[in-house]
Amino acid sequence: MIDTDSLTITEARKLLGAGTITSSELTQVYLEEIERENGELNAFIEIYEDALDSAAIADKSNGSGVLHGIPMGIKDNILIEGKHASSGSKILKDYVASYDAHVITELKKAGALFIGRTNMDEFGMGSSTESSHYGPTKNPVDPTRVPGGSSGGSAAAVASGMVPVALGSDTGGSSRQPASFCGIVGFKPTYGTVSRRGLMALASSLDQVGVLAKTCNDANLVYTVISTEDQFDATNIPMSERATTKKEIKKVGVLRNFVASQNIDASVKDAYEKFLNELEAAGHELVEIDTQLFVDAISVYYIILPCEASSNLARYDGVRFGLREDYVDLLEQYVYTRASGFGDEVVRRILLGTFSLSAGYKDAYYGKANAKRQEITATFRKLFAEQVDAIVTPTAPTPAFKIGGISSALEMYMQDLFTLPINIAGVPCVSIPYTHDEAGLPIGMQIIGDYFSDHTILDFGTKFEKLTPFKQS
Ligand code: GLN
Repeated sequence: MIDTDSLTITEARKLLGAGTITSSELTQVYLEEIERENGELNAFIEIYEDALDSAAIADKSNGSGVLHGIPMGIKDNILIEGKHASSGSKILKDYVASYDAHVITELKKAGALFIGRTNMDEFGMGSSTESSHYGPTKNPVDPTRVPGGSSGGSAAAVASGMVPVALGSDTGGSSRQPASFCGIVGFKPTYGTVSRRGLMALASSLDQVGVLAKTCNDANLVYTVISTEDQFDATNIPMSERATTKKEIKKVGVLRNFVASQNIDASVKDAYEKFLNELEAAGHELVEIDTQLFVDAISVYYIILPCEASSNLARYDGVRFGLREDYVDLLEQYVYTRASGFGDEVVRRILLGTFSLSAGYKDAYYGKANAKRQEITATFRKLFAEQVDAIVTPTAPTPAFKIGGISSALEMYMQDLFTLPINIAGVPCVSIPYTHDEAGLPIGMQIIGDYFSDHTILDFGTKFEKLTPFKQS
């Protein structure tokens, strides 16, 4: 009897390797779990009819890839040839991908198969998965609450045992904050180590594919598979330029005073203290770091992201992709297609971005945000060069909140307090499941590393992750 709530890729690979179970049987077990749970949770917005066929092919082919025969969930903004991908938006509801994303090609080569696509905030804008065209996803720990976002579908799918691992994306925290809310691992790689080709662009200079997994080890496995070089993504860093000096983590940067003084949930403050004490007990030296970058990051991000998004989303004009509303002339067609295809948050950010990039305002907003971005990046470089080997923070300022519980956009943006600086600088970061509040809601902690220390922070995370099965049922 397989317990999908706790089965890791590593364990599944052992069972498959020993012939205890076939990929078809394993996939069937997950499909049954989906059948039982997805009606309520809405983590998957489509289950692929050919999942079992792919499993049967894996069984026949006897391959040796590290993910051979392992079923996965894929966020709705990552392209799989011949499958729908819509970024959770009405404007792309009928769009079918014409090619495989680089990460999909690599996963296929490693033998993985895809069970379905997972729900998300529209175009990745949000922290709750409530802005999806397909309705909200619910948190498996407490279905009256959100799973976080924007990769909430992937997080809920992994946490509820519908799939052992899933891909998400992370532009400002979208893989880590949902992982924290659902009690699993969420990993955001060093910018440029995972190809963005075939990941629908939100803000190209911040976007990376992320991994949602049960353990840091599983995330590490998947990261190794997807982080190959890709000459078709101009921002992908050649292997020869990825520094690999594996430094042991001794000194850990902390935000003790900042966390204590901020308006964040008491359970998160307590959890952070507990984590710092555990780190100290394990022999790590804790170093208080300058916290100005966390204060600046929100303003910087909410200028840069809308600017890049307004440009990236200009391609959805009713001519080339997805939805087309028919009106008398071309201009009306653009206007009505976009007005009917985009949701409120997307419209808000397009307006903000277009304004910030307009003549007369570009220097005052976009220019200034970019200058601040350079400062934030320089601060991280200096910290890692001179003071610390890693930095730890809570992942989110609260545990999972109620569906409908946050109605103001600004309050929603505060969810990103700890996650944004990482994307702004492009460093790697993992959220590990650490503890829970009195109501049993999961609380995650973030481990931030220097550029290219992805494997090191994941190894470090292994020592501190608490793999409590958080799901209530
Ligand atoms: N919550 C952030 C936002 O709304 C992060 C999104 C993301 O990483 N895709 O932009």
